[in-house]
Amino acid sequence: MNDSPTARPVPFLDLKAQQARIAADLRRRLDAVLGHCQFILGPEVAELEDTLAKFCGAKHCVTVSSGTDALQIAMMAEGIGPGDAVFLPAFTYTATAEVPLVLGATPVFVDVDPRTFQIDPEQLRARISVVRAGRRLRPRALVGVDLFGQPADWPALAAIAAQEGLFTIDDCAQSFGASLHGRMLGTAADATATSFFPSKPLGAYGDGGALFTDNSDRATLYRSLRTHGEGTTRYEVLRTGMNGRMDTLQAAVLLSKMTVFADELAARARIAQIYDSRLGNAVTIPARVPDSVSAWAIYAILLPDAAARDRMQAGMKAAGVPSAIYYPRPLHRQPAYRDAHDGAALPVSDDLATRIMALPIHPDLTEEDVSRICDAVLANI
Ligand SMILES: *Cc1c(COP(=O)(O)O)cnc(C)c1O
Repeated sequence: MNDSPTARPVPFLDLKAQQARIAADLRRRLDAVLGHCQFILGPEVAELEDTLAKFCGAKHCVTVSSGTDALQIAMMAEGIGPGDAVFLPAFTYTATAEVPLVLGATPVFVDVDPRTFQIDPEQLRARISVVRAGRRLRPRALVGVDLFGQPADWPALAAIAAQEGLFTIDDCAQSFGASLHGRMLGTAADATATSFFPSKPLGAYGDGGALFTDNSDRATLYRSLRTHGEGTTRYEVLRTGMNGRMDTLQAAVLLSKMTVFADELAARARIAQIYDSRLGNAVTIPARVPDSVSAWAIYAILLPDAAARDRMQAGMKAAGVPSAIYYPRPLHRQPAYRDAHDGAALPVSDDLATRIMALPIHPDLTEEDVSRICDAVLANI
């Protein structure tokens, strides 16, 4: 019996199985680093930057210590600070909003599309007008998030940003490897920031991140900022920077993971397809952004209400099938950000938080796992 209590629980994420697939290459890569001992900015870091830039089609890649630091360096490079409004979706991970606040700028929360969950360009336009009319903050930048693996509507966002004079940052932390209109994410905005947190589609064995840009001056600035604002020599300090480099060991891990990344993206897409066809008549499945390929970091379904979600999660858990909620609270409702929020209503983000639920999706789920997950969802509608 698939749902017998003795069946092994389905893993929400399975980093051990993935490690077994790349074991020999990974060992060779790690041994090379242990051999040369250049633990900071060793040769693997430059090799990874080259590999990642080629993979996504960006001219420059600058690896950094995390996705959050990638966002921070991108904003520091533009001098974003007090008095600046940074527009971003209310329905995203906390780091997107944290960074402007750390720099003294003000996050302006924008509502999202109820079916794709991505930042809504029309809502963005409306929020920019309100900020302009208020004359307290200067509209300065847009952080578009590619949520759950799907790309945001970058053509629409970039057009608005160009009209309004906003710098664009693509928070691609969940979506490295996704593409829109046949182009991989990495060049959709003025700067693209991604994360290699272990649970992201391309995950390291610790923290890591990267910035992508086609602008070589900006790439130089990012390299300077990640190493204390250094100039062409180590003891020339040109600007206030930070310690934001990626470890050589993490670069080695990521180089090894890149050998299977495309296959893993394909495996995630196959699982999403099975979920669509087996669950599409029973629950609201995630709507696809037109002409895009998702990296499928998260497969999120919508249930009718919070009570139905509670019942579903409890029933699935009893069957040994995990689920998760991204995100139980939109950012404008978080204690840390309430004071920064101007009080605008963001009804879609509020609604999604009450009834969204994520199913496991990772390349090492077996066919039997996927079928058990579908059975568990269908049994608890
Ligand atoms: C994970 C994530 C980040 C932060 O990345 P870290 O590497 O954990 O710092 C930023 N934005 C979004 C949308 C994320 O999901």
